[in-house]
Amino acid sequence: EDRETDVVIIGAGGAGLAAAIEAREAGNEVVIVEKMSFVGGNTLRATGGLNAAGTSPQEDLDIDDSWETHYEDTMTGGQDKNDPELVEILTKNAPDAVEWLIGMGADLSDVGRLGGSSENRTHRPTGGAAVGPHLVEVLRTNAEDEGVEILTKTEAIEILEEDGKASGVVVQNGEDEYMISAKAVVVATGGFGSNTTMITDYDEDLEGFGTTNHPGAEGDGITMAQDIGAALIDMEEIQTHPTVNPEENYMITEAVRGNGAILVNLEGERFVNELDTRDVVSEATLEQTEGYSYLIFDHDLRESLSAIESYVDRGLVIEGETLEELAEELDMDAEALEDTVTNYNGFVESEEDADFGREDLETTLDQGPYYAIAVGPAVHHTMGGLQINERGQVLNEEGDTIEGLYAAGETVGGIHGANRLGGNALADLMVFGRLAGQSIGEDL
Ligand code: ADP
Repeated sequence: EDRETDVVIIGAGGAGLAAAIEAREAGNEVVIVEKMSFVGGNTLRATGGLNAAGTSPQEDLDIDDSWETHYEDTMTGGQDKNDPELVEILTKNAPDAVEWLIGMGADLSDVGRLGGSSENRTHRPTGGAAVGPHLVEVLRTNAEDEGVEILTKTEAIEILEEDGKASGVVVQNGEDEYMISAKAVVVATGGFGSNTTMITDYDEDLEGFGTTNHPGAEGDGITMAQDIGAALIDMEEIQTHPTVNPEENYMITEAVRGNGAILVNLEGERFVNELDTRDVVSEATLEQTEGYSYLIFDHDLRESLSAIESYVDRGLVIEGETLEELAEELDMDAEALEDTVTNYNGFVESEEDADFGREDLETTLDQGPYYAIAVGPAVHHTMGGLQINERGQVLNEEGDTIEGLYAAGETVGGIHGANRLGGNALADLMVFGRLAGQSIGEDL
C-alpha cells in the first residue's frame, strides 16, 4: 500500500544508516528500504578500518597526524583525479566521524596502516573484531533506537520525480509493488562491483574477473538516478583488490600486509612494494607467472591479527615448520624463498627496503611456522558514480542540483579519483552519509 514519509533512503549499508541517523536527529521521519534480507551491504565486508587523522585514538597512541597529510595521501593515491573539494570534505570531517561513532558505542581504539597512507590512521576495534560488522551493528542499533524504520527485502525500482524534483520511490516486496512518497530521497545503494555486465561495459579488461562484492552491489541507484537526469563521473575507474584468494574468491585483508607480510611470486621472489596502492600491486601481480602470488608471513604475524584465524578455518592458509617446508608445499624453489625472506629481514633491520622502497617495515619474518596464502586481483571498489556537490546533493548534466535528491557512499563518484586507498571507504560512507542527512535536516 502506498505511503508517505519525510525521508526515504535507498540502501541500508554504512552510508544509508549514517544518513538516516542524522536526518532523524534533525526531526524527520525516516524510512530505509533495503533489497536484501539483511542490513549492511558491502559495509559488512569491510575488514581494513576507517581512515581519519587527528582523532582521540591516535592521540592515545601518540600518533601525530593531520587532515592535510590524509588529503595529500588520498589525492596521490587517486592519481590526482579526485575532486579536491570532496577530498577536503572527506579528510576534514573523518576525525569527527570517528568521535561520533565512538560516542555511539563503537570501538575504534586500534590504529593501523594500510597501503598509500603515510601515517597510522586506519581505525578498527582492538582485539581483532572485524570492523565492518561491528560498525553496522552500532549504526543499526542507534538508527532503530532513534526510530528509523528499516524495511528489508524491499527493493527500490524507480525514483519518482515531480516538476524536476525527487518525490519518492517505487518499491517491490515480493509480489507487492507500492509507492513511498517523500520530501527527500537518498541514494545509498553502494557500487556496482557485482554487476558483471556493467563492469565490463566500463572496462572490458575485467572480463572474467571475480569480485569481492556482495550480490546486491549492482549499481541500481546509479541507473535509477540517471533515469531522472543525474550526471555520472569516473565510471571507468574500477578498483581491483590485489589480495583475493582465487580458489575461494575470498578477500584477504590488506592488514596482513600492513602488519608485515610480504608478497612473493611463484619463483619465490618479491616483485613489488607490498604497501603500494592497490592499483599498483594488482597490476604488478598480473605481470607475474600465472597472474597470482603468495602472501608470506610467520607465526608472530599470525598472532597479531585474528582475521588470519578465519582464513585458517576456511582452509586458505598453507603451513610449513620451516621456510624450506613451506616452499615444498608451494612447489617453489626453497633456496629462492629463503633468500627472499633473509634479504627482507635485513631490510627491516636496516630500515631500508633496497629492492622496492617499502617504507613500513613492520617486522622481521623469522618465527616459524611459516605460512602462505595464494592471492590475486578481483573487482573490489567502483570509484565512479553519481556526481554530488559539497552538500551531498545529486547534480545533473548541467551541474545544477536535482532538488530533493541526495547521495552518499560507494554510489557516489569523484571522491577517490582513479584509485581508492584502503580505509578510505568507511571514512567516505560515514562522512558523506552524515553530510546528506545533515543537509536534509537543513533543507526540509
Ligand atoms: P555503502 O558502502 O555505500 O553504504 P553498501 O554496499 O554497504 O554501500 O550498502 C548499500 C546497500 O544498498 C546494500 O545493502 C544493498 O543491498 C542496498 N541496495 C542496493 N540496491 C538497492 C535497491 N534497488 N533497493 C534497496 N536497497 C538496495
